[in-house]
Amino acid sequence: LQMQYDPKNIFAKILSGEIPSAKVYEDARILSFMDAFPQSKGHTLVIPKVKACNLFDIAPDDLQNLIAHTQKIGRAVRDALAPDGIRLMQFNGEPAGQTVFHIHFHIMPVWADSPPRR
Ligand code: 5GP
Repeated sequence: LQMQYDPKNIFAKILSGEIPSAKVYEDARILSFMDAFPQSKGHTLVIPKVKACNLFDIAPDDLQNLIAHTQKIGRAVRDALAPDGIRLMQFNGEPAGQTVFHIHFHIMPVWADSPPRR
């Protein structure tokens, strides 16, 4: 879980504009965009603009701001799509399921008639 930030990771390229994304929200410190391989309708990602690989690599103030915006964007997703539930996910390290090594929260709307497998 201690690793070097790769400035060429996919989310770094999304932040720089090198890779396009469907943006949901942006300010000086945060970017939110639609997941390109959604696990449900409205699957959204929230990332900070700081170079941090994972939960243990981000300054507390940046983490607080990231979580506060995850709540704000989660509320907007809730209001727009009216899901039956919302799953938040955040993975650290490859064995845990992390594939992009720039910290991010998943906002995954869930509907009762198609619940996630686990
Ligand atoms: P992780 O498994 O690291 O928590 O999640 C990375 C997420 O990034 C996955 O849900 C994956 O679908 C998403 N993703 C991968 N490549 C791209 C991309 O180029 N654009 C967008 N918008 N999402 C991506």
